[in-house]
Amino acid sequence: MPDLDRVVREIAEEMRARADRGDVATYIPELARVDPGCFGIAVVGGDGEVAVGGDADMPFSIQSVSKVFTLTLALGKIGNLLWKRVGREPSGSPFNSIVQLENEHGIPRNPFINAGAIAVTDVILSGHQPREALGEILRFMRFLSEDPSISIDEVVAASEQRTGFRNRALANYMKSFGVLENPVDYTLGVYFHHCAITMSCRQLAMAGRFLAHNGRNPSTGFSVVSPERARRINAIMLTCGHYDGSGEFAYRVGLPGKSGVGGGILAVAPGRASIAVWSPGLDASGNSHLGRIALEELTRRLGWSIFG
Ligand code: GLU
Repeated sequence: MPDLDRVVREIAEEMRARADRGDVATYIPELARVDPGCFGIAVVGGDGEVAVGGDADMPFSIQSVSKVFTLTLALGKIGNLLWKRVGREPSGSPFNSIVQLENEHGIPRNPFINAGAIAVTDVILSGHQPREALGEILRFMRFLSEDPSISIDEVVAASEQRTGFRNRALANYMKSFGVLENPVDYTLGVYFHHCAITMSCRQLAMAGRFLAHNGRNPSTGFSVVSPERARRINAIMLTCGHYDGSGEFAYRVGLPGKSGVGGGILAVAPGRASIAVWSPGLDASGNSHLGRIALEELTRRLGWSIFG
């Protein structure tokens, strides 16, 4: 992929040189300490080739990008019954909004806002101990990325546990409506830990391949989910993957994507590639500022927007 290699390298150089980098998340010290000058990008094509630029092999906290994979696992476990516990409409609200949850009787608007992701985590946890549920999530990430070294940053997880007052409020509120089956502390423990998974752009792009290729890992041919399920997860990423910046992301980038407050974004170019970018500075909606710009440049230069 000579053209792709060149484009990816150029974008990495351009992003590294930019002064506008957004603001690093400060709600826990571990994220606040990350160097805002970092930028990484990895693109994995269907032929198995990988194009990388910048800090593509530097591990970062994937945070809410993990919600794509927990959604996949929960759908695998209970199928469409999941949609009784969580909706699939864009929220138009910040990631941790509580107002909407009250209006909608404890049913979170979608699986990617915090309340929805906590409900999804609760589904994975049911019938298991927290440690087993977490092990299942971690094994899934290692399997998808073909990398057994992927792990959880325990310091980040502990920090989230200590400061996650609003997530605790969301979880307790859902529990009062019977939306959560497990003890709130157990569900939150698993949620905080899967948000604290650490991965590089290269590992994350590898993990997202099944979404770009009809539910299959293109290098092994192994089916992770059905083509229909992959299509639907992509649809939710497109409409809900960037909180109240989802419309802007679709408008500018034109790909399904999911962001995290660690500054990572996983984006899917269906039939083409799985893409991960990372730049820790965030915009006002809590999405990676340069990550979004880099993806916009990538889709523009390669003609990869799903909208033509
Ligand atoms: N762990 C973060 C939280 O629950 C994830 C938020 C995000 O990445 O958007 O607050």
